[in-house]
Formats: sequence, C-alpha cells, structure tokens
Amino acid sequence: MNIGKSRSLYKKALKLMPGGVNSPVRAFKSVGGEPLFIKKGAGPHIFDEDDNEFIDYCMSWGPLILGHADDDVVLAVIDAARSGTSFGAPNRYEVELAEMVIQRFPSIDVVRFVNSGTEAAMSAIRLARGFTGKKKIIKFDGCYHGHADSLLVAGGSGIATFGIPDSAGVNPDNVKDTLVVPFNDSDRLEQVLISEGADIAAVIMEPVPCNYGLILPEKGFLKKTRVLCDRYGVLLVFDEVITGFRLAAGGAQEYFGISSDITILGKIIGGGLPVGAYGASRDIMKKIAPDGPVYQAGTLSGNPLAMSAGIATLKKIEETNVYKVLSEKSLKLKTLLGPIIEMYRGEVLLQQIESIFAVFFTNSKTITRLKSVKECDMKLFSEYHSEMLDSGIYLSPSGFEVGFLSSVHTDEDLEKTAVALSGAMAKILG
Ligand SMILES: *Cc1c(COP(=O)(O)O)cnc(C)c1O
Repeated sequence: MNIGKSRSLYKKALKLMPGGVNSPVRAFKSVGGEPLFIKKGAGPHIFDEDDNEFIDYCMSWGPLILGHADDDVVLAVIDAARSGTSFGAPNRYEVELAEMVIQRFPSIDVVRFVNSGTEAAMSAIRLARGFTGKKKIIKFDGCYHGHADSLLVAGGSGIATFGIPDSAGVNPDNVKDTLVVPFNDSDRLEQVLISEGADIAAVIMEPVPCNYGLILPEKGFLKKTRVLCDRYGVLLVFDEVITGFRLAAGGAQEYFGISSDITILGKIIGGGLPVGAYGASRDIMKKIAPDGPVYQAGTLSGNPLAMSAGIATLKKIEETNVYKVLSEKSLKLKTLLGPIIEMYRGEVLLQQIESIFAVFFTNSKTITRLKSVKECDMKLFSEYHSEMLDSGIYLSPSGFEVGFLSSVHTDEDLEKTAVALSGAMAKILG
C-alpha cells in the first residue's frame, strides 16, 4: 500500500502538534505503523490522501451511525451554515433537538447542550454534587468519561478504592473523592456504598463499557446498581455517549429497561459535529444556571450547525428504521465473522452487542471484567490490525477500542471483511 502522502503529512504534523495528532489514539501508537490522513468519507468507506480505500469500522469512534457524509445531514449543515454558524443567542434548532432528545429518553425532562462528551460528563458530575450537596463519586474501572480531572481515574489495580490519577498534571486532590469499583461487582459496590454512602453524590457508569474493548454487563448488574443507588440515596449517572441512540433510540436505558437519574450524551447526538448533552428530571436540572446555582456555560453550545446535524441524524434514524436495519447487519456480521473466529477458539474472541463489536486475543469465552481485557494479547491485536488495514479494513487503532457498524455498511462490505479476517487469522494464528 502506498502511503507516501500520509507519511509526509505525518512528518510535518509531528513538528506541529503533539504526536502529530489532536487526540492521542489516532497516532497508531498502540498498533504500530503510521496514521493515515483521511481525505474523504462516503457511506461506510474512507479514502486516505493516497487514495487508498477502506471499509471503515471506526466511524469517527461512533457518531456516524448513518455513515460518512450522509446526504441529509450534509444538506442540513449547509442549509444552517448559510444563515450563520453561531449567534451566542438562542436559536430554533436548539428547541427542536431538545424536544427530540426528551421524547426519546423518558428519564430526561430537561436537557443542556454542550460541545463534547467530556464537557457533558464533567458538568453532570458538577450537577450531581450541586444537587445532593455531597462530594464523592463512584466510577467503575475501565469506564471512560472523557478527560475531566475528577474522572481520569481507572483504578485498575484491583484493590484501588481511592483513585490515583491516570494522567500527569491532575492534582491528586481532584481525584481523591473519586472512588473506583470493579465493573460487574455489585458486592464491592454495596460495600463502598455502605461505608461511604453518606458522602456519595453519584455512581457514574457506561452501562456497556465501550472504551476498554467491549465489556458486557452481566445479567442483573445494571438493575442491581439501580437498586443499590436507590437504597443508599445516590444518583445514578449513565454515560450514554456511545450507547445513546446506538443500542436503541433511548439508549441503554431503553435497551435494558433501566433508567438513570442523570444522562450524558454525545457522539451520535451531533451527527458528526461536536455536540454533547446532559439531561435529567426537571427537579435535578433546576439546579443548573440560570435557574439554579450550578454554573455551566458555552460560547458555541447549541450552535445551529451542530444542532442541525443532530436533528437530521435523529430524524433519519427514525424515518429509515435504523435500529432494525442495524440489527440485521449486526446479525450478518456475527454470522460471517463468528465461524472464522470459532476456528481459533481459545485464542480469539468476537464480543458484540448489536452494532458494537470487539475482537480480543484471549482464551476467555466472554469479557466482563477489566482484568480480562488486560490479559488479552495486544501484540497479536497489532498484527491483526495491520493485516486488516492491508486488506482494506480500517479498524480503530487500538485493542482497547471497539468497532461500529453503520446503517450503510453493505453485505458486500461485510463479506469482504470476513475474507480479510480469514486471511489475517490464518497468517497470525494459523
Ligand atoms: C467518547 C466518550 C466520551 C468523551 O466524549 P468526547 O466528545 O470525546 O469528549 C465520554 N464518555 C464516553 C462513554 C465516550 O465514549
């Protein structure tokens, strides 16, 4: 594969931006090789600067549920842009998107738009603290909630209860009130709630963790978490930045039939433009300025471009019955890839929930703990990643990330992916 143009851009970028990128995983550090510079996307495909074509399963890390450059989304953005990109004053698109979100999430009466998932999560935590008057929060290991200081703790070290920051530059004082519990461990959660419950404002979680590979919630775990939060008087915050509008229109809360007190949204809600949101009951959201004392603001929040992309995306999801389409495609993916993976049983695992999937090099039969992800062979993942790339399949460049199907991946795309997978596995494990 000729990557000359990407290579020279990367060389230049390395001098201009940290690691040559504006978000770390893009640098291909964990899979080796060099990042490709993408020139164009069309439906399920992307093209790099050297005109190599790929079937894309990164999909901008989740937002592009309708594929790249969907006609209706693009038209909506152009249309809005013609009338001005931002006013710093209310506009009708905010009202329209807010209505759509509230209609889809029964647990949300009132929503506030921001510009990223990070911002939404950070604000949701501030809101939880402001509403309850308590200062501690519980997060689960392996869950990612953006890069706000108090959430940059994974506490993978097993016994870790009091957080240690994952990043230099985080004041340890900012994470000392973040308690970390292993995902899928209700007993541990209850112990912490018993001992610290009086000081805990919220439990925050990805209902399905999609940022450490794909970790599945064990049966009953989400429900138990809801019950425990109610029992100990703690708010439950679902970070649905990935699962919202992905597992169902109403996110994981609809999919699993469990509602949260505060919901964090991002990715799909912006249809490929920068949007995040957080919402809750009227009672809780009353605390947000200007109605209440919890301050949170944004110059470009709710701008017409981002709102229009979100509106067009959510409209089209509904009009084209996207969850049914995705469900069929997800089944097709499983049917095509499953048997190939099965040939190497004990060495590799395909884990999937609807249109989200991950390939792990492990002898585990299923992955429900962070510990099991850490035991996976990431060197094999790198080899797999580069074999797939060579065969025209663009996967997220890390074994700690997931793949996404869009509503426009075709049977032919999936068949090509299966052929590539078969070749890659034979080469690596054969
Ligand atoms: C992507 C992501 C975030 C952060 O969103 P950004 O828009 O990248 O700031 C937060 N939570 C989850 C679950 C995510 O997947």
